[in-house]
Amino acid sequence: MIQKPRRNLNNFKSPKRGFLLAFGELFLKSEGVRKILKRSLANHLIFFLNKEEVGFKLHQFRERFFIEIYPASFYKTKRCWAENFKKASKIIQNTFGLAWFSQTFFLKNGNLKDLSQFIKNNYQNWIKENQTFALRIRKGGEIKESREEIIKEIAKRINRKVNLDKPNKEIFIEGRKDGWFVYFKKQKGLGGLPMGSQGRVITLFSGGIDSPAAAWLTTKRGAENIWLHFHSFPLVSKKSIEKTEELAKIFINYQPKLKVYYISFHKIQLQIKTKAPAKYRVLLYRRVMLKIAEKIAGKENCGALITGESLGQVSSQTMTNLGIIEESVKMPVLRPLIGLDKEEIIALAKKIGTYEISIKPQEDCCSLFVPKHPTASGKLEIVKKLEKKINLDKLIQKTLKQTKMEFF
Ligand code: ATP
Ligand code: MG
Repeated sequence: MIQKPRRNLNNFKSPKRGFLLAFGELFLKSEGVRKILKRSLANHLIFFLNKEEVGFKLHQFRERFFIEIYPASFYKTKRCWAENFKKASKIIQNTFGLAWFSQTFFLKNGNLKDLSQFIKNNYQNWIKENQTFALRIRKGGEIKESREEIIKEIAKRINRKVNLDKPNKEIFIEGRKDGWFVYFKKQKGLGGLPMGSQGRVITLFSGGIDSPAAAWLTTKRGAENIWLHFHSFPLVSKKSIEKTEELAKIFINYQPKLKVYYISFHKIQLQIKTKAPAKYRVLLYRRVMLKIAEKIAGKENCGALITGESLGQVSSQTMTNLGIIEESVKMPVLRPLIGLDKEEIIALAKKIGTYEISIKPQEDCCSLFVPKHPTASGKLEIVKKLEKKINLDKLIQKTLKQTKMEFF
C-alpha cells in the first residue's frame, strides 16, 4: 500500500519530480477525439503504474501528461525513489501513443523568478565547469514573458559557456499555465495510438516469429488483441501451447490484459487429411482457422482478423493463395506484415522481446500432413469442392464447443 504525501509539494521550492510525456499522433486529432484518446492513454498508464506499485500522481495538461513520482519518504515500502523511476520509465517506454518522454522537474505554480532561482541553485549539478550548454525554451500563450526575456533571465544565472549547435548539455524549459518544467534528455516513445482506442481484433497466433510481431503492430495502432491459437495436441507435444503462454506474458507489458483461446485442431486436420490431396491441405487449414476465428470474433465484438502473413514469404502466402484463404470469411482480414521482409520482422520481434521465445522449436500444426511443396496457386473451385466433401460446418461447430480460454 502506498501512503499519501505528508508534505505539501505544491511549493516550487521543493519541485515535483517525475516524467513529462509528449503525445504522438493523438495530438493531431480534433478536440473531441483527442479527449477520448487521452483518456485511453491515462487509463493505460494508471493500470501499469498501480500494478507495479509505483507511488504516483498523473497530472493531465492540454499537450502533456506529467507523472509525478512520490519521493521515497512517502512510501511504507522500502523501495527507493530511483527504483520507482526505473519502473515508471519502463512502463512509459512500453506505452503506445507517446512521441517522447523525459525525466523532469516541475515547479508547480512557480513564476519566472522562481524558475531562475531554481536553475541558479542547481545548474552546477547539471553542467560541469568545463562544459557548454544551450537553453531550449517552449512556452504556452499564458506565459507573459517572451522567449528572449526568459533566455536572458535564465542564462545570466548560469556561469558556463553557451554553445547552441553542439552543447554538452541541453536544458529544456517549458512554461505552462500551471508551472515550469525543466528537463534534459528526451527519450523516443513508441508512437502509435493509445491501447484500446481503436477497438478489438482477433489475432491468429501461431507462436512463430511473425504472428507476435503482427499482433504487436495492431496494438501499436490502438487495437486490443485477443489471441487464437490452434494446436494439434495430442498428435504433437504441447510445445506450441507453452510458447503461446510464454509469449502472452511478454505481450502483457504492452496490453494490460490478454485473453487467449486455445483451439484443438487435430480432428479437423485428420478429416482434411483423409479427404483432401496433400498439396491443398494448408489452404484448407487456413480457411478453417479463419472461419473459426470469425465466429469467435463475432462473440467477442472484434472488428477484424489479424494474421502474420507477408506477401510471398511461403507458398501459402502468394497473392493467389492469400485471396483464396481470405475468401472463406466476410470479416476484414488484416496483415500488418504484408510489406515486411523476414529480416525486418526479426528486428521487430527482437525489439518487442518475443524473438527468443518464438525461435524455440515447436511442431507447427500447419506442417502436419503437409507436403514439402504445397500448391502456390490453388484454385478456389477445387477448394470449395473439397470443403463440401469434408462437411466442415459440422466439424467447426464441434470444435467451437471445445475451446479453452486463458486470461493473462
Ligand atoms: P508465424 O511465424 O506467425 O508462424 P509463418 O511465417 O510461420 O508465421 P505460417 O506458418 O504460414 O507462416 O502462418 C501464417 C499465419 O497463419 C501466421 O502468422 C498466423 O497468423 C496464422 N497461423 C498459422 N498457424 C497458426 C496456428 N497454429 N494458430 C493460429 N494461427 C496460425
Ligand atoms: Mg508458422
